[in-house]
Amino acid sequence: MIKVHEIGSETLKTAIRIYCDYEYKDSSRRLWFEVSEDYLEYTSTECGDAFFVVLVLLAHYQGQDISFETPVSTRLYYGVTEILLPGLRILNPELPVINVVAKTQDFCFNPTAVGTALSLGIDSFHAVASSFNGPYPVTHLTLFNSGAFGDYGGEVSRSLFQQTAESVAEAAAEMGLPLITVDSNLSEILNISFVPTHSIRNLSFALLFPSLFHQFYYASGYPVSKFKLDSASGDATHYDLLVAKALCTESFEVMIAGLHDDRIDKIATVASFSPSNHHLNVCILADSNKFLNRSENQVRNCSRCFKCVKTMVAMDALGVLNNYSHVFDLEIYNSERIRYLGWIIYDAKKLKSSHAIEIILEGQKTPGFIPVQAYGYAFSRGRKNLIRKLQYRK
Ligand SMILES: [Zn+2]
Repeated sequence: MIKVHEIGSETLKTAIRIYCDYEYKDSSRRLWFEVSEDYLEYTSTECGDAFFVVLVLLAHYQGQDISFETPVSTRLYYGVTEILLPGLRILNPELPVINVVAKTQDFCFNPTAVGTALSLGIDSFHAVASSFNGPYPVTHLTLFNSGAFGDYGGEVSRSLFQQTAESVAEAAAEMGLPLITVDSNLSEILNISFVPTHSIRNLSFALLFPSLFHQFYYASGYPVSKFKLDSASGDATHYDLLVAKALCTESFEVMIAGLHDDRIDKIATVASFSPSNHHLNVCILADSNKFLNRSENQVRNCSRCFKCVKTMVAMDALGVLNNYSHVFDLEIYNSERIRYLGWIIYDAKKLKSSHAIEIILEGQKTPGFIPVQAYGYAFSRGRKNLIRKLQYRK
C-alpha cells in the first residue's frame, strides 16, 4: 500500500518546490515539481491532480494499492481509473489490479490558456505551427524534465534539460510566447522506461497548472492510423489518444496534434514556420549519440546521427533544406548526400520504414533527386548488415 500525504510547498533560491510525501515499504519518499515564482499563482496545493497521475502510475508498476489525502478532480479520477488503468493492464497483463482511493471534487478552476511542450523537434514545432491555423492557437510554451533527457532522471539528464531550456527560451522569445519550464524528480521516482510512459509523464506536468491551461496539445509521433494497444505496443505514441481521453478534468482538455499527419507532412508544415529555421533540433540528445557535441552551452544538431540524417534528407526532398543552414551543417550534408540517401533507401526498401518511404516518394517528384550511386550505397549497407548478422550467428 502506498499512502500519499497532503501537498506542500517550499521556497528555494530560484524556484518554488511543490511536493508531496508518500509512505511506501516502511520509508517516506518525496515527489516534487519546481516552478518559477511567476507561475505559482496558476498551481494549487488544494488539488492533487499532477501528483495523482504520477503516483498512480508508480502504484500500477509496483502492483500496489494507493490512497491520497489531497482531493483530485472528479473527471480525472474517472479517467485514470476507468480509462487509463484498464488500458495499462492490457499493456502489462502480468500486473495486478490496484485499488485507488482519493476524495474527488469539481474545483471550478477557470483556465483560459492553450499550452504545448516545445522540445524544438519536428513534432513539437508542428504542434505549435499547426495550432495557429486552428481555433485554439498556442498561448504558452512549456518544457518539462519528464524523462526525455534520460529515462531515469539524475544530474546528467537534468543538465541536458537545463541546456535545452536555454535554447527553447530563445525560440520562445522569437515567437513572442512565454515559456514555462518545470523540473521534477518524477523520473527518479518512477524508475521505469520513458518510451511506454512519455505522454502520461508529460501531461502530469501540465496538470500542475489547473488555473492556467484549458487546452494542452500533445504532439504525437504517429498518426492515429497507427493506433495500437496491446502488450507489443512498447511506445506510448501508439496510444496517445487513449491517454488524452483519460487525463482530462472538468476544465482541462488534452488535444493530440498531428493526429492525421504523416511525418513528411509535418516537416512541410514546420518548414513554413520561420522560427524553426533557427531553432529546430532533432538530434539524439543522449550519450549514446557519439557525434553529440556538448562542448558548447547549447546542444546543436550533429548532422550525422540517424535522426539528423532523416530530417535533412526529408527537407532536401521538400526543397527547403537550405533554409536550415543555421541548424544543420550543410557542408557535411553535401559531402555525405549520396551516402545519406542510400541510408534512407535501405530503410525504405529493406526495413519498410514508413518515414523513409515517404521521403523517397517525395524525392521522386523531383527528376534526378536520387542519383544512381545512392542505390549502390543502399546495397552495400544491406550487404554489410548481412555480413554482421552472419558473423554474430557464428
Ligand atoms: Zn544528430
